[in-house]
Amino acid sequence: MEIRKKEIMLEKKEKELKKERLYKHPQLLEHLYLKLYMSQTQIASLLHINSGIVAKWLKEFGIKKPKRDVTKKGYRGKEHIFIAEKKLGRPLKKGETVHHIDGDKTNNDPNNIYIFKTGSDHAQAHKSLRKLSYELVKKGIIKFDYIKGEYNIKKTKN
Ligand SMILES: [Zn+2]
Repeated sequence: MEIRKKEIMLEKKEKELKKERLYKHPQLLEHLYLKLYMSQTQIASLLHINSGIVAKWLKEFGIKKPKRDVTKKGYRGKEHIFIAEKKLGRPLKKGETVHHIDGDKTNNDPNNIYIFKTGSDHAQAHKSLRKLSYELVKKGIIKFDYIKGEYNIKKTKN
């Protein structure tokens, strides 16, 4: 009985080592991390290991994400940041935020993109727009719909 227990323990250890060898493979990690742009968490769940281990081995093998290159794509769904950095000719600095002038976050036309130095500058811009919209309410250009409980642009009568 005692021997069987030991055998099971050894088998378990061997399995763990096999698993370990897989993620210890630098080419595999490099491919997943740099070529497929997978996050450390995604790699961890793919290999059924803890993300701390992924971080450890990435560090061990010296696999690092390169500094963002503004001349290359690879921003995946962050096109507004790509456009902003292209406009600036450098990566965004800490605190800098990207604003869509027309409020449409899907409109990443360079003319619709503005970069604020700080989050509070950005908030100030939004505040100024809110203030203006109330001016338009006062002027009767924007109307309040008492039934729907929302604002509308006054329709021009034909
Ligand atoms: Zn904004």
